[in-house]
Amino acid sequence: QQQDQWTRNISGQNAAMANEYFEQFVNASSLKHILGYYRGLIDNLHLRPTVFTQFYPKLRANLTSWRAKALWKKFDARASHKCYSKGRAAPNTRVLIIGAGPCGLRSAIEAQLLGAKVVLVEKRDRFSRNNVLHLWPFVIEDLRMLGAKKFFGKFCAGAIDHISIRQLQCILLKVALLLGVEVHTEVGFERLIEPQPDEKIGWRAELDPPDHPVSQYEFDVIIGADGKRNTLQGFTRKEFRGKLAIAITANFINKKTEAEARVEEISGVAFIFNQKFFKELHETTRIDLENIVYYKDDTHYFVMTAKKASLLEKGVIKQDLADTEKLLAPDNVDRDALENYAIEAANFSTNYQLPDLEFAVNHYAQPDIAMFDFTSMYAAENASKVLERNGHKLLMILVGDSLLEPFWPTGSGCARGFLSSLDAAWAIRGWGSSSRTSLDVIAERESVYRLLAQTTPDNLNKDWKSYTLDPSTRYPNLNKVAVTPRQVACLYDTDDAA
Ligand code: FAD
Repeated sequence: QQQDQWTRNISGQNAAMANEYFEQFVNASSLKHILGYYRGLIDNLHLRPTVFTQFYPKLRANLTSWRAKALWKKFDARASHKCYSKGRAAPNTRVLIIGAGPCGLRSAIEAQLLGAKVVLVEKRDRFSRNNVLHLWPFVIEDLRMLGAKKFFGKFCAGAIDHISIRQLQCILLKVALLLGVEVHTEVGFERLIEPQPDEKIGWRAELDPPDHPVSQYEFDVIIGADGKRNTLQGFTRKEFRGKLAIAITANFINKKTEAEARVEEISGVAFIFNQKFFKELHETTRIDLENIVYYKDDTHYFVMTAKKASLLEKGVIKQDLADTEKLLAPDNVDRDALENYAIEAANFSTNYQLPDLEFAVNHYAQPDIAMFDFTSMYAAENASKVLERNGHKLLMILVGDSLLEPFWPTGSGCARGFLSSLDAAWAIRGWGSSSRTSLDVIAERESVYRLLAQTTPDNLNKDWKSYTLDPSTRYPNLNKVAVTPRQVACLYDTDDAA
């Protein structure tokens, strides 16, 4: 009966058009196309992104191809987890998410399934990051359960355990949109706007462009998922300094020839494990590395940690300077020498089997090669806090690289990022519950956060299929009350003197 009601107002022609747009949407591989086909799809169904229970059933009832049905099966299974209370676990919660990176999108999906209103802003106009991420097994399982293979047939086929950031963003964006998340691109978050006395208006955001309609959106939860720069003010960050470490990433066009297909990947050759390889590389080319990874994906992706002395010797770095920022500043780097360095390292490590290495292009239409310092990494001291101004409360949560910057050689970024996204959604669930105080919610969030930096593929629960928002399904030996509400009183910033 309800199904009939959802299909009744849509003409046969509109439904057919919507189904056609859906096919194109599923196949689309750029941000612009995904959003364009999505618009065609929802316009034909007279739908606007909104909360899960008002959006998804209507979309589901009108899209009936086998492909659509296969996806609904996945989404229905996920949405039936008890913790979402049939999309009514956070019905009066309004969430703003900053950033459509993997972790912002993953958080958006969970908040949407909880029944919150979810709006996401992304400052870029394209998904252009070719870099390839190694995924921990639970992340692969998580993405499979969200239907990743339906959008990208090659997703982690066979022994492949990696994906380009761009492709991962495309998959997660499609899932988020089909569940009803409202996504705005080319909109940057600038800062929070506090509610004023005697006004009914709650928390809002100052955006770039300032007159964007989302600047009128009032929310009571904000998730900072804008990567390591972290624009959401109010969080203290700790710095971890190691010895000088310079990474180089390089992406070459994969022309998908048979010769290229035969070349073996290098899933992490670290100096300590293969001293002979690095010695030979040094003797033959004067390139001195601590490690190197090569993944074959949409591009041939190489990432390596290079020793400063060899970068100086090969003329990549022009002058040896003590200040790392100045050392790697564009005017102290010879781009041509850097390109040659990466090409030589790629050729040597693949036994010269990749003929005619040609750089892919990056976001700025330049050869996709980057050199950066990862001597220092940052972690937020706290994962959450609450602000209260003039009677309006705001839960602030960090996820992904904004929360805990990963050490790239361990490939932990996306995995710890996804864990933090699930943990953030668990906190939103608590926030929406009348039986929990604000302090209870942040105390629990901080208790869980204490475990994040120590997680490895081996010390997480191995039953990946059973993972839900509830942190105890993922972290063995979790103590949800390790931090008490009293200990987090300083994270509750209120102007209410009472
Ligand atoms: P990001 O991917 O940085 O996304 C942030 C998004 O926010 C971006 O789209 C950005 O445009 C947007 N944004 C920024 N500011 C604003 C604003 N003010 N308003 C609106 N939007 C904004 N991880 C792995 O799991 N495995 C690996 O093998 C791996 N290898 C790596 C190799 C290297 C060399 C590096 C540098 C990282 C590697 N990582 C790896 C880490 C991984 O890339 C990150 O952990 C992951 O991309 C983090 O996702 P995120 O969503 O937190 O942030």
